[in-house]
Amino acid sequence: MFCAGSTFKMNQRKLPNVLITGTPGTGKSTLAEELASCVNMKYINIGEIAKENELYTGYDEELECQILDEDGVIDILEDTLSEGGNIVDYHSSDFFPERWFDIVFVLRTDNTILYNRLEKRGYNAKKIQNNVQCEIFQSILDETKAAYKDGIVHELPSNTPDDMQNNLDQITDWLQQWAANT
Ligand code: ADP
Repeated sequence: MFCAGSTFKMNQRKLPNVLITGTPGTGKSTLAEELASCVNMKYINIGEIAKENELYTGYDEELECQILDEDGVIDILEDTLSEGGNIVDYHSSDFFPERWFDIVFVLRTDNTILYNRLEKRGYNAKKIQNNVQCEIFQSILDETKAAYKDGIVHELPSNTPDDMQNNLDQITDWLQQWAANT
C-alpha cells in the first residue's frame, strides 16, 4: 500500500484524533492500521483494549458477543485521547465523548462483499445476517451522524483495494490540511 504524503509532518503543538467506524468487516482495522503507520499516529483498536483490560459488563446471548464496559473504556483512554494523535477503530461511535474526535469516517461495504468477508472470518449464519442487516439499514452511519456535528462525519466506500488507497489518500490529505491550519 502506497502512503501518499509520506513526508507528512504534523504540527507538534497539537494533533487531531480520527475515529474510523463501520459495521464489522467493512475494513476498519485494515485501513486504520495502515493509516496510523503512514502518518505516524497511534492506532487504537477498542476491541483489543477491551480484551487486554477485560472491559466487559456481560455477554449478549442474542448477538453472541461481549458487552463493552463503555465507561471503563473512556476512563482508560481519556489521557491518551486528550493528547491527540490517535486513530481509533471501533464498530460503534456514539458512546465516545464527542470532544475526542476531530473527524469521523464511516466505512461502507456492499452487502455481498460484506457477506463474503464475514463468512471467511468464520462468523455463523446468524451473526453474518445481523451484521449485513446492520449495514443495509446503515445503522452505524445514522448513529454516527446523530452523535457528531455536521461536517465531522464522512462516509467512505470500502469494497476494493482501490477504495482503500483512495481512503488513505483522502484521510492523509485531511490530516495535512488540519496541520497546515493549526
Ligand atoms: P473490520 O476491522 O471493519 O472488522 P477488517 O479490516 O478486519 O474489517 O477487514 C475485513 C476483511 O476485509 C479483511 O480480510 C480485509 O483484508 C478485507 N478488506 C478490508 N478493506 C478492504 C478493501 N477496501 N478492499 C478489499 N478488501 C478489504
